[in-house]
Amino acid sequence: MKDEPLQSYRKKRDFSLTSEPRGELPGGDRSADDKSTGERIFVVQKHAARNLHYDFRLEVDGVLKSWAVPKGPSMDPKQKHLAIAVEDHPLDYASFEGRIPAGQYGAGTVIVWDTGTYHNLTELDGQIVPVSRALENGHISIWLEGRKLKGGFALTRTGRGWIMVKMRDEEAKPSMNILKAEPASVLSGKTLEEMEKTGD
Ligand code: MN
Repeated sequence: MKDEPLQSYRKKRDFSLTSEPRGELPGGDRSADDKSTGERIFVVQKHAARNLHYDFRLEVDGVLKSWAVPKGPSMDPKQKHLAIAVEDHPLDYASFEGRIPAGQYGAGTVIVWDTGTYHNLTELDGQIVPVSRALENGHISIWLEGRKLKGGFALTRTGRGWIMVKMRDEEAKPSMNILKAEPASVLSGKTLEEMEKTGD
């Protein structure tokens, strides 16, 4: 029997203690709507947990497919960054920022470092491969239209985890450290350090 969507997400969290969303908004309608435009959301959250990392999430079939990226995304096509697949998150997690209390899963501070829409570029033999299938196959190519991240990105599964890389296109910025250049939340304007002090 297939696990209920978000079962793993909910099991890890006590919603009487954390202000993270339970994820009870229906995702199905939204993903159906988006099939007409092919546009779905992505989000990158900067998360100061035990180890600082960036969480990269893509809307796929009503949930956010998620990876923890210790070094964060890069606009430099030469940078290949490890992305560790983690549990699916609910769609409304895309606007979550604030503090996850001590003792809770992922305890620490979160900001929404970037968000926007994406579309699927993954092709096999000249045909577009649906994102869910592409993820099963272990390779996706997507075009991001974020406030900070733009252009083509690829995620490829390897023996050690997934590798995230900026594709070579007109949006690539080989000499830019976008994490340092644009550190603040695109929702609140706060840096992670400011969010740590003030909470949500
Ligand atoms: Mn995280």
